[in-house]
Amino acid sequence: MTETIKIIPMSSATDVTVQELHAAQDRIKQGESHGYEKLVTDAMLRPMRDLRISVTDRCNLRCTYCMPREAFAKDHAFLPRTELLSFEEIERLAKLFIQLGVQKIRLTGGEPLLRRGIERVIESLAKLVTREGKPVEIALTTNAVLLSQKAQSLKDAGLARITASLDGLTDETFQRMSDSDVSVKTVLDGIAAAQRVGLAPVKVNMVVKRGINDHEIIPMAAHFRNSGIVLRFIEYMDVGCTNGWRMDDVVPAREILELINSRYPVRQVDPNYSGEVAERWRYADGSGEVGVIASVTQAFCHECTRARLSTDGKLYTCLFASGGADLRGPLRAGATELMLAGLIAGHWQRRNDRYSQLRHNATEMPKEKIGGKIEMSYIGG
Ligand code: SAM
Ligand code: SF4
Ligand code: SF4
Repeated sequence: MTETIKIIPMSSATDVTVQELHAAQDRIKQGESHGYEKLVTDAMLRPMRDLRISVTDRCNLRCTYCMPREAFAKDHAFLPRTELLSFEEIERLAKLFIQLGVQKIRLTGGEPLLRRGIERVIESLAKLVTREGKPVEIALTTNAVLLSQKAQSLKDAGLARITASLDGLTDETFQRMSDSDVSVKTVLDGIAAAQRVGLAPVKVNMVVKRGINDHEIIPMAAHFRNSGIVLRFIEYMDVGCTNGWRMDDVVPAREILELINSRYPVRQVDPNYSGEVAERWRYADGSGEVGVIASVTQAFCHECTRARLSTDGKLYTCLFASGGADLRGPLRAGATELMLAGLIAGHWQRRNDRYSQLRHNATEMPKEKIGGKIEMSYIGG
């Protein structure tokens, strides 16, 4: 099969070059007997299994650890509509990621429920099947502010699972963490609605920041025991450049677990699958499960299989990346499926990211990874 490269605009130093495009095409030609369906692995032999898609860089909260108001003020220049991947573009790229090995897709942001008509893209993604012929699992992470009104339509569209974020049970703590006047009740009502319509099992993420909401660890555990909801405590991470992260603000997962265990004894459970980021623990009295995500103190880069598609269609291979590969440019310029698949595969094959493993060893840390990190709301949390 002969493919010709059409006009591909170059917009930044991190975008693909014409040479790279040619190289991608060559790779595809060489692997013609397998096609681009050949499973890709990165430089550390990690396959590409999960795709996180940021459907908007906007949010109705201003969590201090993610979108601090000083950096994301009223006049902040969010991406204009035309820069966003359309639902059709998302679907087209998602199909290629799936052919390259992706089995699960998570819609995120920013706040994904702010993207108008989100149900439409869920509906089309939910029809896709993996290379093995199984349905692709479609999940969504939300702050749950709009979940009460959206839960049923999300379920009807084919969403399988939901993860909601909640950093405390008192309005005082929650509003301090989210820098908003939204009530905890609004979020809890959203979570209850998700459970009611069967978006199960619902998971709840709590980012823990020392001295700010760590006093809510036990109340949160107490609240979600016996509810069927899996509460996961996340170590506060140094994503982006705006949250003023300091190691002193991190409450290590071990400390969180010891605290919970002293009140409600827990036993460790095997992971659901290899590469699961949350460590699973079950209450000894049978009242449910909790998890910890120790992204800072116990890095899990060696089994990280996550690719991220930013709101404007760049492929990032690490949450802490400072650059991504532009897919939207080639896509809008008329690149074929084969060419786009070659670009995605080539970028993944060059991947050697392991930021969290290197974080502890500043001498090993590549300089470009220390400055210029991308904000989580844009790259997709
Ligand atoms: N707006 C949605 C929400 O909050 O669930 C989805 C996007 S948000 C970026 C995805 C997840 O990333 C949330 O659970 C949030 O708590 C988490 N997150 C954001 N910034 C973080 C940080 N600095 N450290 C750890 N987790 C963070
Ligand atoms: Fe918004 Fe989610 Fe970031 Fe909070 S964590 S500011 S809800 S995108
Ligand atoms: Fe994956 Fe990068 Fe996080 Fe390591 S630091 S687990 S490579 S996203």
